Formats: sequence, structure tokens, C-alpha cells
Amino acid sequence: MPDFESIVSLAKRRGFIFPGSEIYGGLAGTWDYGPLGVALKNNLKNLWWRMFVENREDMFGVDAAILMNPKVWEASGHVSGFSDPLGETRFNLMFETKIGAAENAQKIYLRPETAGGIFVNFKNIIDSMHPKIPFGIAQIGKAFRNEIAPRDFIFRAREFEQMEIEYFVRPDDWEKSFEEWRENMLRYIEAAGIDPAKVNELEVPEEERAHYSKRTIDFEFDFPFGRKELYGLAYRTDFDLSAHSESSGADPSYLDEETKEKFIPHVIEPSLGVDRTVLAILCSAYMEDELGGEKRIVLKLKPSIAPVKIAVFPLVRNKPELVSRAREIYAGLKKNIGQVFWDDNGNIGKRYRRQDEIGTPWCVTVDYQTLEDGTVTVRDRDTGEQKRIEESKLKQYFIEKL
Ligand code: ATP
Repeated sequence: MPDFESIVSLAKRRGFIFPGSEIYGGLAGTWDYGPLGVALKNNLKNLWWRMFVENREDMFGVDAAILMNPKVWEASGHVSGFSDPLGETRFNLMFETKIGAAENAQKIYLRPETAGGIFVNFKNIIDSMHPKIPFGIAQIGKAFRNEIAPRDFIFRAREFEQMEIEYFVRPDDWEKSFEEWRENMLRYIEAAGIDPAKVNELEVPEEERAHYSKRTIDFEFDFPFGRKELYGLAYRTDFDLSAHSESSGADPSYLDEETKEKFIPHVIEPSLGVDRTVLAILCSAYMEDELGGEKRIVLKLKPSIAPVKIAVFPLVRNKPELVSRAREIYAGLKKNIGQVFWDDNGNIGKRYRRQDEIGTPWCVTVDYQTLEDGTVTVRDRDTGEQKRIEESKLKQYFIEKL
């Protein structure tokens, strides 16, 4: 098990994650993602969006406003029931703010989960997209909770990001759909590079389930600070659609055009935290090992989610011919692959170490032989193996591996 402090310190030192508002002494429960962190996070969000929205016919994306009419949170039960039962003082976890000018300002909340923005758009999706049941609505976005004790780095923050799906089914089909989403969540865990051996499924007992849920599985992860919830999968019945219908008057029903049957769909909700995904990946990928007799720190990230895929080096930086050839290769790869990094600082061994620490799967070195025969050295992060590849075949070589 890696030492947690080493992971947190690597994340800061190498530009993944910084404490929020750090120069002012920070703000508890907030974190700022740096250049590598934001790239990693974008790769994870894109993976999720591709797997669950773009690659499917039955999914519809939304990006709803964070500020919502407070009636949304009254109807969902968050105003009356969203408190921390473990805290000494039972207080509501929603952040309050005001909308409008002082004299007639109205109290509103920052959304505590993205799901609210999905349920209020149920009818809009039905009317504009005419989906056939079963179908889902997906959203990625920020959520805010005034956690009493934010802790364990980005694990429990006051501002975080969620990737949520509300999947609408016929009431009788909920068990089948629950099972499908359980498998889909495991597929995402695998694709993101979270160590499946550290993932545990917990059937949440009734007394511990959220007020809206008839069945919940928590996907837990063995973090260095203990086994904790990574994701949740819940059967929310027709609780939300019915509650919003009662409160707003909007019709929550679905009309089956073929059978003319009208009913309120039930909902399966896979809910994934982006930040906990990042943390589980860092904890899965962080290793201290030895390569060629030297100790090193390495992040064994999946190439598809690594924030830098390839680093390009000129062997030395004081030979203009070599540097300009390396620049050309760098520009070509960057145009096609995007997450490509240039480094001409220090000796090659040091550059390899730096790339290992941030999880770059391949380093390309342009040397004197390149000028003679057009081949470059490609070095593999995990094995340290180096092979010569023709410059003209590089792009294809990497695209096949990504
Ligand atoms: P916990 O029991 O750890 O407080 P929860 O059961 O309240 O979590 P949910 O309401 O199910 O969490 O939220 C869905 C997902 O959002 C969680 O599985 C997690 O990935 C993420 N999440 C929830 N709260 C936080 C937080 N404070 N910081 C970071 N991620 C969070």
C-alpha cells in the first residue's frame, strides 16, 4: 500500500492538484487542479461521456444550471432531509446563497448533486428528443456540500464534480437495469485504470440508504486511509419524478406510442465522483520500484487516460540541427495526439525519471542516428525497454497503442 503523503506530495509537486486559495492560507475542502490534473480529469470525463453517451443510442446529455429554483430541493427532500446524521449538530449540508438585489433577494442553494438538473429536464427531453424507454439522461458537473469535516485530500471536498446518469425504465424492469448498470460501472472502473482488486461492492442495508432509494450498492475502494465509498448505484423508484410532479404540476409520465400505455418511469442512478476517480487512479497507479538498478517513482497510468502520452526530447539542446528535427517530430505528434510534451532540460536519465513520475507511457528521443537514418528511440515507461522506430511510422505506432 503506497504511503498517502507521498501521493499527495507528488500531486502537488508535479502540477496535478494544489490546495485551493493556497497563497491566502487555503480554504478547507477546496482544491485546484493544475495542468496535469485537469488533463487527467478531462480524459476521465471524456472516457465516461464516450462510453455512456456517445457510444449509445439511448442516452441524452444535459448541462443544467448549478443555480436552481429552491423548490427543486424542497421537492427532492434535500431541504428537510439532507443533513449529516453523524455530526454533533444536525445541520443541512447545502450551501445557501442569495439571488437578486438585497431588498427582495431570495434564498437559493448550490446544487448538492447534479441529479436535480436531470429530473427537472425530464419533460424537456421527452418533448424534444422523443426517446423510447428505456433511456437515460447524463450530466457531468460541479456539486457542492458543506461537509462538516472535509478530509483525506480530494476524497471529501466541499466542491467536487459528479458524473451522473438517471436511467428511466418500466417499473417492472428495474432489476435487470440495475444489474446492467452494475456491470457498466465495473467496466468504467476497468477502463479508467482503477485497480479492480481494491474495489468492493457493498449492499447498503435499508436503514443506511438515502431517503429516495429502495436498493443501493456502494462501490468501495481500498484507499490508503481505509475502505471508503467510491461510487454509488441506486434504485430511486419514481420518487423524484413523482415528487417534482406533485410540487410543480409538470406531467412526469411517459407515453408508449405503440401500446398507448402511460406510466411514470422508475429510475436507476449510477453516480460517480470525478475527484474520487482521480484519487483512486492515483492510488492504483503510484509505485516506487527499481528500473535498471535505480529507484524511481512511477505512475502506471493507462495510456488512454495519462495526461501526457508522449514526451519528445532532443538528446542535447546545443545542437541546432538535432533540436529542429526533434521540434518537427514533436509538432507532428502534438497535432495528431495532443497530449504531447517537450523537454530538453537535463540529462536523458533525469528526463525519463520526470516523465515516469507523471505517468507518461512513452518517451521519444531524437539523437545523432536520427539525422543519419530517420529512426528515433522510443522508451517504454513500464519496462524501460528502448527500441528504434522510423520517424514516418511513429504516429501509427502510438495511435494503435492508445
Ligand atoms: P459519502 O457517504 O462518502 O458522504 P454519499 O453517499 O453522500 O458519500 P452520494 O450522495 O451517493 O455520496 O454522491 C455520489 C458520489 O459523489 C459519491 O459516490 C462520490 O463519488 C461523490 N461525492 C459525494 N460527496 C463527495 C465529496 N464531499 N467530495 C468528493 N466526492 C463526493
